[in-house]
Amino acid sequence: MPKRIAWQDLALGAPGIDADKVLGAFKTYDVSKSNLYACTICLDDTPHMMRYRMLKCSSTACKAVVSSGVRDCTWRGKSLSCQVDDAVSIFEVGERATAVNSPKKKRLTDTQKTYCRELTTQHLRSVRIRRAMARKFGAVLQDLPSLDTVQNFVNYYSRTNLSRNDSVDDLRAWIHARAYTGRESMTQTFTFAWNLDEQGKPVVGNGSEERPFVIGLTTKALVLRLMRSPNTYILHVDATFKLNYRGYPVLVVGISDRSRGFHLVALYIVSGETQKIIQPMFMALKRLYGWLTGRDLVVRYAMADADKAQYNAVNAVLGDNPQFLSLMCFFHVMEKVCKAIKPFPSFVSSDIIRDLYDLHFARTHLEFTRMRDALLRKWMTVPILIDFAQYMSGQWLGSRFSGWQLYSTPSGFASTNNPVETFNSILKRDYTLRRCLKMGALLAELSNCCEDQSANERPFRLEVIPTEALIRRVRELVRENLLGLGGDQTGSFGRPGCLRVASRLAKRIVVAPNNRSEEGIAVSAQMGLNYARMEVEGQPNGGWTVDLSRRWCECNYCYAFGVCVHVLYAVRTLDYIDGSGREILVSRNKQKNNGVATSTNLGQRGGRPTMVGPALTF
Ligand SMILES: [Zn+2]
Ligand SMILES: [Zn+2]
Ligand SMILES: [Zn+2]
Repeated sequence: MPKRIAWQDLALGAPGIDADKVLGAFKTYDVSKSNLYACTICLDDTPHMMRYRMLKCSSTACKAVVSSGVRDCTWRGKSLSCQVDDAVSIFEVGERATAVNSPKKKRLTDTQKTYCRELTTQHLRSVRIRRAMARKFGAVLQDLPSLDTVQNFVNYYSRTNLSRNDSVDDLRAWIHARAYTGRESMTQTFTFAWNLDEQGKPVVGNGSEERPFVIGLTTKALVLRLMRSPNTYILHVDATFKLNYRGYPVLVVGISDRSRGFHLVALYIVSGETQKIIQPMFMALKRLYGWLTGRDLVVRYAMADADKAQYNAVNAVLGDNPQFLSLMCFFHVMEKVCKAIKPFPSFVSSDIIRDLYDLHFARTHLEFTRMRDALLRKWMTVPILIDFAQYMSGQWLGSRFSGWQLYSTPSGFASTNNPVETFNSILKRDYTLRRCLKMGALLAELSNCCEDQSANERPFRLEVIPTEALIRRVRELVRENLLGLGGDQTGSFGRPGCLRVASRLAKRIVVAPNNRSEEGIAVSAQMGLNYARMEVEGQPNGGWTVDLSRRWCECNYCYAFGVCVHVLYAVRTLDYIDGSGREILVSRNKQKNNGVATSTNLGQRGGRPTMVGPALTF
């Protein structure tokens, strides 16, 4: 017969919050046993379980006494907590070796643990959870368990209960449960891949060279966005990093319209960026498009970062269309060039950059080749530039990576990968909260993102909509007297339906860098300077002639963006357009100042912009 232990009760069926206090008053202890037994502590008759925990002393002060051999620590504790009701009983027995308290590690109480779990599911970091706990329980931070304790609890909980782990089997199960079947609703996320197993489910590799991990996520609504004329969009591909612990990039595929608005098509998690991985990715998208629409995917413009694998993969899959054009992100080209010209003296490098911008704004291929050849000849005569000239003609001017001129696409289309990069920053800000996630959690977040994106559709623009930033710029230029009507509106210069707008060189255009590296900021600054230059370069005496019916100006900026400050100024002067850029009815009131707007009434008409445009609108 087992010896009966003389347990002394410290709490009987007490609420959890009181039990926490009793446990908190104990010296440091470990849980030596934890089991589920039939509940004996509450008044509920229906059979249910309670958690039975045995506690043993782990106080260092006690250990010191025990190891010196003076006396033993016979203290033991027991806690029983009902799994249904809020009832806990606590007992203790035996004598401690010493009553001296060792500085003890504070534990998370059960109420705190529940709160921790809640916040963990919301992806909060341990530091923030601990701070939130201090507010919620009205305690100072020092009185709470240490950050280590919170961290351990949060990590353990998210690993075991929230599928936040990198186990291939768990991931495979998740992916297969959501594999494309054709029965999904329009906005329901599904997974897809090129390699399918016998059941038609995506093959999920472990990310090694032999068994790559390539999984796409999208919805029907997102894929059907590709169902429009190939002349109306640019397909963008961009990799974004630091979203997960294993260093797998997330590839974002989407299209941008004529007003540089971005529309997501699919997201991929891939274990590498080689052609072997990226090519099947596009093949899978093409096949999926065929399944959904019964048609062939025809893409005319595709833009990638200056990356060989992306370039080759896109060309291999989409290049069967004779009109297909592979474009390069101009920002990335300039970033690479800026690295190459770093060693040169600043007057040399600023000249080079200026020349490259002129090339970027070339209006025809003939003009481009003529300018390029002259430029290369010029560089070859300067001894320090010979290497650079060879690098440029091999890499950016002659080779397959030379598709970064504006004449490749109609006016208004993006010349950089910025639309997709802006989207990437939203992905990091709103879904992954700028932290690395375990693969399971990342898949879940990307899946949410696909669903949100397919639910709120932004309009696909077939025409150029002036950005808020450009409308604001017109007001600023007018205020600084850098923009106004040209001298001669009638005489030999004036054409019917046209207006002369005179522009003076402004300092720069604000181009917010998406990547915050030092080089990125420098490249953005140059871009701002050179775009501002394009507003005035080549301006005839008496200003630019703006064709009001076609909304067209001769300046280079307008050539690139399909709209410019001159057009906006001219159109607004005639009251055809309201503060947000929409056309309104022409005022038939008698005009007091001969139809010529003054800077004051222009400023009023615009009003304060109600919203700030996307980070990068240029
Ligand atoms: Zn019970
Ligand atoms: Zn003890
Ligand atoms: Zn213009």
